[in-house]
Amino acid sequence: MASGNSESREEFMGVKVMLGEDELPKYYYNIKPDLPGKLAPPLDPRDNSPAPQAAFEAFFTREGSRQEFSDEPRIAIPEEVREAYYRFGRPTPLYRAKRLEAYLKTPAKIYYKREDLNPCGSHKPNTAIPQAYYGMKQGLEAFTTETGAGQWGTALAYATMLFGLKCIVFMVGSSYAQKPYRKTMMNMFGAQVHPSPSDKTQFGRSILAKDPHSPGSLGIAISEAIETRMGMENARYSLGSVLNHVLMHQTVIGQETMLQFEKIGEAPDQLIACVGGGSNFAGFTFPFIGEKLKGKGEYAETEFVAVEPEAVPSLTKGEFRYDFGDSAGTTPLLKMHTLGKDNTPPKIYAGGLRYHGMAPLVSHLAAEKVISARAVTEPEVFEAASIFSKTEGIIPAPESSHAIKAAIDSALACRRSGESKVIAFNLSGHGLLDLGGYDDYLERGVNALSVRAQTVAHARAPKGNR
Ligand SMILES: *Cc1c(COP(=O)(O)O)cnc(C)c1O
Repeated sequence: MASGNSESREEFMGVKVMLGEDELPKYYYNIKPDLPGKLAPPLDPRDNSPAPQAAFEAFFTREGSRQEFSDEPRIAIPEEVREAYYRFGRPTPLYRAKRLEAYLKTPAKIYYKREDLNPCGSHKPNTAIPQAYYGMKQGLEAFTTETGAGQWGTALAYATMLFGLKCIVFMVGSSYAQKPYRKTMMNMFGAQVHPSPSDKTQFGRSILAKDPHSPGSLGIAISEAIETRMGMENARYSLGSVLNHVLMHQTVIGQETMLQFEKIGEAPDQLIACVGGGSNFAGFTFPFIGEKLKGKGEYAETEFVAVEPEAVPSLTKGEFRYDFGDSAGTTPLLKMHTLGKDNTPPKIYAGGLRYHGMAPLVSHLAAEKVISARAVTEPEVFEAASIFSKTEGIIPAPESSHAIKAAIDSALACRRSGESKVIAFNLSGHGLLDLGGYDDYLERGVNALSVRAQTVAHARAPKGNR
């Protein structure tokens, strides 16, 4: 065991780059004014005219809706929100994966940003906290929301607890069954949780009438949460990904990462993150993409890679067009890469990536070729999670393991070419409530993860429910 001698400790344990309390970002970064081309506006589905801010205020908080339409380059983070960030563990450390590098025998340097260390275990409180805070300031009493794997519901349950609001969560049925402890966490923070499709809403009942065993989907759960909000006077709906203001809140991740790289005198050649709705990817990369778009030398060559499941390939195989954010078709239309709102993606362990669409901002950057996308299979992802656990000693979320898989591939390509790239990925969450999935993998091998063949066929199939 290396101790005392810092160089050998570095070899053994890797590097941990910390920031102080005063280095916590003071602003959210808004990429909109720096974008190449013009972002397609959200549309009112009734007549395809641009949806006004008021259309968003019916669903979301007033401040969130204002930010959704804002062209300001940055938006101040309220002091109470910064305090809440500090309290739950921001700024978060950046680690260098020396042990993973040694295992891969790669000349590349691999870094990862730790968004797994807070009481919820993912990056999602970065937006849940300001959303709950804005709701409290607006005088709201409750939020309704959906959750896939449970991380978003947990984050909103936590944030509403902090600011004294009620929280009602519709949890995708397949995840509710796979991850019962996520429900327990939400309940412990004081939230109500319903498996979706549920009999609590008209839309849920309509889905159950067609298919009593529907595994549910994020799109369905969103519709149920919106319907529930519409039936409540002083409540709003809250979304944990996809929208501009949500992505903006996540930019605290990338701003910290940039400062951390500056401190150690490195600049990443490649930034990698998984994508469900696109928020952790955006949060991690947008501050860097902004610099690149402004022509800042240091990041002029930096590459940005979004990694999605082959089973839910919205960016790599979806169409770039207007679609609804939910399955019932209640939201404004968003221009995004989509598999179609009626597509119920197959069950995969990375429930947080099971969404038919993609954030308009991420979709736009993909269409402009500023970022690239790739899809990976579930067995590959679980193998990457296993390698990461055995080298770095952290059990990653299956969602985050999509990024790990891409980082490993990139490091192995460096081994072949001899390049010593600096690769960084976002560890968006831990996998401590995904042990059921990992157990299936360990006990039954990759054959337990049989969604692959079924899913690709399914994803390519014409739109429509299964
Ligand atoms: C929700 C979630 C994701 C996917 O959502 P994005 O909005 O694409 O970031 C990824 N990782 C974890 C751990 C999550 O909880």
